[in-house]
Amino acid sequence: MDISSLGEFGFIDRITDGISCTRGDTIKGVGDDAAVIDKDSDSYALISSDMFLEGIAFDLTYTPLKHLGFKCVVAAASDILAMNGTAEQITFSIGLSQKVTMEMADELYEGVRAACEKYSIDLVGGDTTPSMTGLAISVTAIGSVVKDQITYRNGAKNADLLCVTGDLGAAFMGLKLLEREKRVLNGNIEAAPKFDGYEYLLERQLHPLLRCDVIEALDKSGIVPTSMIDISDGLASEVLHLCRRSGVGARLYLNKIPISSKCFEFGDEINVDPVMAALNGGDDYELLFTVPVGRYEDVLRVGGIDVIGHVTAPEKGAALVTPDGGEITLTAQGWPAQE
Ligand code: ADP
Ligand code: MG
Repeated sequence: MDISSLGEFGFIDRITDGISCTRGDTIKGVGDDAAVIDKDSDSYALISSDMFLEGIAFDLTYTPLKHLGFKCVVAAASDILAMNGTAEQITFSIGLSQKVTMEMADELYEGVRAACEKYSIDLVGGDTTPSMTGLAISVTAIGSVVKDQITYRNGAKNADLLCVTGDLGAAFMGLKLLEREKRVLNGNIEAAPKFDGYEYLLERQLHPLLRCDVIEALDKSGIVPTSMIDISDGLASEVLHLCRRSGVGARLYLNKIPISSKCFEFGDEINVDPVMAALNGGDDYELLFTVPVGRYEDVLRVGGIDVIGHVTAPEKGAALVTPDGGEITLTAQGWPAQE
């Protein structure tokens, strides 16, 4: 049987089908951003793993290793934040291909150290092995959350507001910019590489930041989201995850999706729709969450958060609302087509 016919999530569903957690302290297993384990009376422990393979998750021809190390830590820790938690430790494992020199490994770890220092995360272990193919990286992030503040993917309720942090799509445009540069360097296209003015897009692709500032700000405002997920695969796929796990539908307003002007500018240049980049691009590492409608003003007061839609009854499904009031059923692209 061809695995690609199932899609990533069909595949995960199949291999984990029927697996039940029998230990009393396993509160949540497969199916959310992180597993949840009960260890003390006040807080839960959170654990999440992410894997990054050369040629799949990153391309070493244009990815500085220092940035790669930083980004892998952010990507893994972001899943802990998506549970409304704090990232505290990571283990960082590497498969070393022959072309990785000591200097390259040092550079990679410079980035790992920088991220750990910036976000007060301790590097507590890992594993090292040779790799017959490319460079392979696996990161496990460990964290914790106060029990009554834990936020799962499954808590969204009808009429809740759909909120998003930061702006979306720029990381995807940054990737397109880097791919264009690579084609120029390989002599495949004529145009001179042009990064000037597009530094923001490169930053978003190569150097994403961990949104712990938002988690802290929500906490200070006394807001516990009803559901949350981090945006690693594009807004559309994450909205569908929240809907599926919460058993609800959603309306997402196209003209409310936060997209930077640089994203529009570069999209124009290469003929890529910025809205598509936001919906299907990925690598944003922003947070998507829901709050009760009564918290509308409180959420806006936090700053840096946009209300982009609302939750509906399940029979309404998930749809994108265009400025003229039309509705387009939300679908997710990905690895390969999902849900
Ligand atoms: P995220 O994008 O937040 O990192 P994923 O989409 O990778 O999450 O994974 C979805 C869920 O499936 C998570 O709960 C994850 O732990 C679980 N999962 C993914 N791959 C596997 C696997 N090979 N075996 C068991 N569980 C898995
Ligand atoms: Mg996630």
